[in-house]
Amino acid sequence: MIDHLNAVLGAVSPSPIRAFSRMAAQAPGCVRLTLGEPDFDTPAPVRDAVTDALDAGETHYIENSGAPALRGAIAAFEREKNGLPYGAEDVIVTIGATEALFVALFGLLNPGDEVIVPTPAFVLYERIIGLCRGVFVALDTEPDGFQLRAARLEAALTPRTKAIVLNSPNNPTGCVYDRESLEAVRAVAAKRGLFVICDDVYRQLCYEADYHSFAEYQILRDRIIVIQSFSKPYAMTGWRLGYLLADGPIRERLALVHQFMVTSAPAPFQRAGVAALACDPAPMVAEYRRRRDYAFARLNDMGLETPLPGGAFYLFPSVARFGMDSTTFCTRLLKEGGVAVTPGAAFGADGRVRVSYACDMDALLEGLDRMARFVRRLEGGDRL
Ligand code: PMP
Repeated sequence: MIDHLNAVLGAVSPSPIRAFSRMAAQAPGCVRLTLGEPDFDTPAPVRDAVTDALDAGETHYIENSGAPALRGAIAAFEREKNGLPYGAEDVIVTIGATEALFVALFGLLNPGDEVIVPTPAFVLYERIIGLCRGVFVALDTEPDGFQLRAARLEAALTPRTKAIVLNSPNNPTGCVYDRESLEAVRAVAAKRGLFVICDDVYRQLCYEADYHSFAEYQILRDRIIVIQSFSKPYAMTGWRLGYLLADGPIRERLALVHQFMVTSAPAPFQRAGVAALACDPAPMVAEYRRRRDYAFARLNDMGLETPLPGGAFYLFPSVARFGMDSTTFCTRLLKEGGVAVTPGAAFGADGRVRVSYACDMDALLEGLDRMARFVRRLEGGDRL
């Protein structure tokens, strides 16, 4: 009977990140540097807000695109904090950034339309594009220092190119797109009428003062879709709350996907969203930065070439010189070294591994000590 299911499901594989995390969870005594979520608790004012919402009976159907108070708060936040001129009418409150990405891609793609995704990239894009019957086109950024340069970008274009996904700061590299990258995308998007999906979910966890989102090119407003999430800056991964911003008429169309898929994000959490936007993630960012600086120095001491992350909570060192693929490296590191990191193959970069520092400093210290010992042992001639 399985052959009678929707054929696209046969071509979509489960996330290898989850699979590896499960394996790590079952390894006794292993230090896990695999987590893609904050180790902090959701701030108290956010937790209190949901209790207040429940006490106030906010448990009924609400507007599909979100409670007016939250949509208004999002618009004000984006205007004041990020300088993006979106109104409440341009917002859809979604079930995390994951649903926002699904809404955007389902809303944009006809079967066979191509989406350029700069790689290394978060696994979700390829899977959602596949589910939407689009074609995932990887654009390797490693030769350009994890930036986008006109020549390689233009070489990825075809007559079927419909959109490009930008993720800055990036999961898994932590890299932030520079002005030249954004300009290169602007030029092709303007010339070819491409949509640009800006997955900016890590923008509040950024260590660079001059961060710029592609969404600042408001001259292309009718082609830009901004994806945001409460998961990372407010430690709310389990709440499943995010949002999408798009120019009114586009947003209205995309809202049909959202409406008929989920009706709305949960009503009691909308107040929690308003409370979250009033929280300042600066203390968490300072702590992530401290861990980044420490882990970056340690990986360099191990002789593992690592791009300096400008944001998010990941490092993406190269393990290419050990002559094994990233899954073999990570499996051996787990079994022989007692520390779990995520194979770069999961992000389209098999010569690297993702080290997450969304864990407490003691775990990070111990994990990196173990990794250093393992690397020393490999250097001593222990090759596969
Ligand atoms: N985009 C990126 C780049 C991510 O790393 C993640 C979460 N790992 C998401 C989107 C999805 O976030 P959410 O929890 O809001 O669905």
